[in-house]
Amino acid sequence: MRETKTTILVTGAAGFIGSHLIDVLITKGFSVIGVDNLVTGRLVNIKHLMNSSRFLFIKERVEDLTLDQLEKYEIKAIAHLASPASPVDFERIPEAIISVNTIGTHQLLKIANEFSARFLFASTSEVYGDPLIHPQPESYWGNVNPQGSRSVYDEAKRLGETYVALYRRKYHLDTRIVRIFNTYGPRMRLNDGRVVTNFIQAILENKPLSIYGDGKQTRSFCYVDDLVKGLIKMLLQDGLDGETINLGNDEEISINALAATLETIVNQKLERRYLPLLHKDDPKRRRPVLTKAKRLLNYRPRVDLIEGLEKTLRYFKKRND
Ligand code: UDP
Repeated sequence: MRETKTTILVTGAAGFIGSHLIDVLITKGFSVIGVDNLVTGRLVNIKHLMNSSRFLFIKERVEDLTLDQLEKYEIKAIAHLASPASPVDFERIPEAIISVNTIGTHQLLKIANEFSARFLFASTSEVYGDPLIHPQPESYWGNVNPQGSRSVYDEAKRLGETYVALYRRKYHLDTRIVRIFNTYGPRMRLNDGRVVTNFIQAILENKPLSIYGDGKQTRSFCYVDDLVKGLIKMLLQDGLDGETINLGNDEEISINALAATLETIVNQKLERRYLPLLHKDDPKRRRPVLTKAKRLLNYRPRVDLIEGLEKTLRYFKKRND
């Protein structure tokens, strides 16, 4: 890899959000080392970067990444996005989720410390659990069942945050935490198991939409381009050391209403099949307070749900997998 003066390490490079983040970093002139073990990431998401002289791909578990692999580079910042994040993965690969967010985060913090690199941790709205405060500000400590089926993700991200806070306190590392709320868009896995891709898959295969529970639970869906704009600021902007900031879209919608929105977009009646909840602790409501993101990052999501879903649907219609 030919290094520019700033090299950034991104984990989860072949994943949905990581690959979009790297695209923007490369466009901005940075050199990027992308790490991914491809457990849920897909090489196709970064295929177009493989010939770039400013991109290096390392296929590795974050936990196994060593200083030796990196010492010839001058890493200025690390963005830790590697983690399976879909509720179906919570049952499929729970140990991997715990590991990458805890041991993996610790390993990366040690590496960041060696380079005195800035550290950005991708945390999640899941740290708020099934929230008792609505909408959720960063100051809320959450309502998480430590033994629930979602806890492998929720608690691992929470411990990840703990590690990050510790390294800031103990080693004065420049650290930042983003809590990412539901995000959707091109490059998700169609069989990811999350609601937007499940609905799109059902539409493409002419099957009924699966609605878990009564469909009255809410989420606030953010188009990936908006989220990445926030991530870029969180990573590159000075003066954010120690900050924890929610990123997402604050337009809240029920799952039933999401189904209705897709009906409007495809302009046809979509059959709905109501199924039991996948997880008993499925959060009933979720919406970010974005005041801090607006104030500190001048962050404003721009893509509304209809436009974002149309773009996503177009992408999946073209993709064949
Ligand atoms: N959901 C649904 N049908 C699906 C997939 C998910 O009704 O095919 C519901 C799920 O129970 C949850 C919401 O949609 O209440 C969002 O689920 P998702 O898995 O996308 O993300 P989460 O916010 O739960 O992590």
